[in-house]
Amino acid sequence: MSPMPQFPAADALPAPVNAAAPARVAVFGATGSIGASALDVIARHPDRLQAHALAAGSNVAALLDLCRLHRPAHAAIADPAGYTALRDGLRAAGLDTEAHAGMDAIDALAADTGSDTVVAAIVGAAGLSSTLAAARAGKRLLLANKESLVLAGELLMAAARAGGATIVPIDSEHNAVFQCLAGHRLADGRADAGVRRIVLTASGGPFRGRSRAQLAAVTPAEAVAHPKWSMGPKISVDSATLMNKGLEVIEAHHLFGLPADRIEVLVHPQSLVHSLVDFVDGSMLAQLGLPDMRTALAVGFAWPARVDSGVGPLDLLQHGRLDFEAPDLDAFPCLRLAYAALCTGGAAPAVLNAANEMAVSAFLQGRIGFLDIPARVEDALAAVGSAPAASLDDLLAADADTRRRLAASLPAGGHSDARSTPMRMPTETPQ
Ligand code: NAD
Ligand code: MG
Repeated sequence: MSPMPQFPAADALPAPVNAAAPARVAVFGATGSIGASALDVIARHPDRLQAHALAAGSNVAALLDLCRLHRPAHAAIADPAGYTALRDGLRAAGLDTEAHAGMDAIDALAADTGSDTVVAAIVGAAGLSSTLAAARAGKRLLLANKESLVLAGELLMAAARAGGATIVPIDSEHNAVFQCLAGHRLADGRADAGVRRIVLTASGGPFRGRSRAQLAAVTPAEAVAHPKWSMGPKISVDSATLMNKGLEVIEAHHLFGLPADRIEVLVHPQSLVHSLVDFVDGSMLAQLGLPDMRTALAVGFAWPARVDSGVGPLDLLQHGRLDFEAPDLDAFPCLRLAYAALCTGGAAPAVLNAANEMAVSAFLQGRIGFLDIPARVEDALAAVGSAPAASLDDLLAADADTRRRLAASLPAGGHSDARSTPMRMPTETPQ
């Protein structure tokens, strides 16, 4: 278990974005859903925030569009085949943005002293190395890439401590907990500051209320149609299986240093209460707001200050009611599997994450059914050895091994590149 929550006391934070010089921000995953929200908030505060570096997976055209708009000093495309088009496109646009390509280049930008703030919003385990690099380099790290915490949470938190990085969780639930905890942590300076438990809320996804049998034939298009949040395809499927909430339980464990039995999940279909903290004195604090990731990102950029995020006020009268129900672990076993992986520890969370990425990718390609996702993850977890995985190499080996096994056993078809690049999201939609 992580010994301490990692987020710092407000007085230990780097100076908030200030008038003297705008914070220079690197946005990794710039062409994705979180990337778009981050750049929207940045553009609202030219005096405080400046897009210094933008990175994306493979969609050069979308990256070029963003460069024209935000004029960063650096642009990086993970797919090396995109380098020439990126460089030439930047020149043709009359920009002096420097072009880079490859995951190593993104890692170098994460560590580069030219930026002080990094938005880690690459999807999947592909985000781990740049997130680790930003943590080691002591950046203010706006952490959306939950998979890196699931895969290597202890190492990432230790790297942030050693590097002096400030992690502000961007996942809306963890951002809510971060906000609810802040004042209390200052009150006594102790690690858990009188916290009895954390309650993470879940929308329940598009299939809330359906039985297991009713889920057998659901399609990828139905699964990505989230009722409350607009997100990338992978996290949308994770929300439909409740694996997203499972990953978030593991994420919360690392961020806030609580064991699995003090992290609970409640389904809250309105998605207005983003999470709650239950204190030993009987107080329960919650953070509410409209479901829009720009709130969390604005908190990340400006904390402990508050800045406009573009998100309007929540009108409780208009919404009328807040409902809560227990998650259905029979219909949505992924949540149970994630708790089990957290309790097993070692390489189990890494295996859970890798198997899930592979299975979700195969589901999105129409190669397996919806219920095969938990089945594949369960099979992969059953194959985990009992040896504690301690090093990054152990965890990366468990990740690669799981991807290889699944690639060999999943029905053929599609265009998985998992064998050659095991740390990539195998079915990245071009972004
Ligand atoms: P998305 O699919 O919309 O975007 C993913 C981004 O990652 C794209 O810019 C893509 O180009 C980039 N990318 C993919 N593979 C890459 C690689 N190998 N190297 C470099 N870049 C690569 O995803 P998203 O919904 O924005 O989610 C991003 C992360 O944030 C995920 O970890 C997700 O779990 C987390 N998150 C998202 C939301 C949300 O509302 N979208 C909420 C909470 C957490
Ligand atoms: Mg979330």
